[in-house]
Amino acid sequence: MKWETIIGLEIHIQLNTLTKAFCSDEAKFSNDPNTQTSIISLAHPGTLPKLNTQQIESAVRLGLAMDCEINQSSYFERKQYFYPDLPKGYQISQQASPICLRGHLDILTSTGNKKIRLHHIHMEEDAGKSVHDTDPYWSKIDLNRAGVPLLEMVTEPDFRNAEEVSVFLSELQRMVRYLDISDANMEEGSMRCDVNVSVRPEGTQELRERCEVKNVNSKRFARKAIEFEVQRQIQLWESGQTVRRQTMQFIPEEGITTPIRQKEDAHDYRYFPDPDLPPVLITAQRLADIKTNQPLLPSDYLDRLLKEKNLQNQDAFILLEEKSTVEYYLKLVDDQPALNKTAANWVIQSILPYIQEHHLSIDQFPISGQSISTLLNSIIGGKLTVQQGQEIWSQALVNSQLSMEDLIKSKLLSVPTLNVNHIIEEVFTSNPEEAKEFRNGKKKLLGFFLGEIKRKYPGINIKEVQEILSTSTN
Ligand code: ADP
Ligand code: MG
Repeated sequence: MKWETIIGLEIHIQLNTLTKAFCSDEAKFSNDPNTQTSIISLAHPGTLPKLNTQQIESAVRLGLAMDCEINQSSYFERKQYFYPDLPKGYQISQQASPICLRGHLDILTSTGNKKIRLHHIHMEEDAGKSVHDTDPYWSKIDLNRAGVPLLEMVTEPDFRNAEEVSVFLSELQRMVRYLDISDANMEEGSMRCDVNVSVRPEGTQELRERCEVKNVNSKRFARKAIEFEVQRQIQLWESGQTVRRQTMQFIPEEGITTPIRQKEDAHDYRYFPDPDLPPVLITAQRLADIKTNQPLLPSDYLDRLLKEKNLQNQDAFILLEEKSTVEYYLKLVDDQPALNKTAANWVIQSILPYIQEHHLSIDQFPISGQSISTLLNSIIGGKLTVQQGQEIWSQALVNSQLSMEDLIKSKLLSVPTLNVNHIIEEVFTSNPEEAKEFRNGKKKLLGFFLGEIKRKYPGINIKEVQEILSTSTN
């Protein structure tokens, strides 16, 4: 029997706000343990939470970017459970009334475009961190993370394979980074993903029981966890057993999933509205302001690259990988449409590999934009061959103090000036038939000779050649 895979995601995004969700403790990631722990983070009796407008704005930004309906009147609830790294004994979250509803993200996979629908996005806070592996006798608790603001995004079960999941996660990371609301780094835990997986016989409509794989902390692990889980479930169904609702954990070292709890152990979280927090009201004016100030999204840049700069899909996607890259490229070609294609090649083939190798951000690239533009214009204008350009490029990289104009001048002095008349003679001699016809007035052959000469002498001033050639026909 053929089986179809069904996947839905629950994704936690840790926001890059300055302070925590409900108090003014720093929300930073790498400080010493338990240094961002005021009485509110520690849940001392009598302390009161207050809203962080930055968290609300981040939620609305993401919601707008994903075409969600913004719930202009949502509220926080308490989700009760006991865990040592949760000092209050409950997590402040949203359940009945999330801030963003529905919406979608469109992804491009190897089989084409696909729309992934969202169920909702809600706001909540993170718990602290328990450390079990640094001391043989004691577990340690770091409460710096307790209260750091999160967005949780829940998708509809629209994914049909691991590739779609992986592309979705990449697109979401890019979106979140362009919005500048999180660095969305899966390995460092600022984006965490739970993967719900079920299978059903191909052609059937009804959803079957699913398992949830917790905290899959890279796209590669997500793919492996899905592949393993799908095979495990198919084997259960095919051997006459049933899949039971379980929460699983992915074990990276073994590439397998194992159960951590059964559905029967599921918590009753006893959600109820948090009486200490006011409802989150977003006025029409506030919503309009956020909309107006929404930054450009990856899709906006993609449009520009394809339509305005005439780039190919593949190149455009490489430039889009990071907002700083596409911004850098756009600045480079600003008002110089002739550079569009060459500059894209140059960024992709020379600049990106260089900054990766030297661990630089693109804004730290040692050759200035002005110099790059001078060099590229000299190549496009035929003053330099591509190879000469690359030689100059290497020299400039070794010593970024040298002026690009000087480098170009000295390169031009070091090669003998091409004698255009001589070159034309040479090409006529090696194509005697065409030369005769051309001299006798077959003007159509001009293109042929220009092509021949350009192929042999890419650096030549082709305009000059054209002028001389035009006068050598009757
Ligand atoms: P719960 O409220 O029990 O957590 P939800 O309906 O909120 O369940 O779904 C949680 C996640 O599981 C969502 O991402 C959803 O898309 C996904 N999901 C729901 N049913 C299935 C299924 N049969 N197979 C795979 N994923 C599913
Ligand atoms: Mg749920």
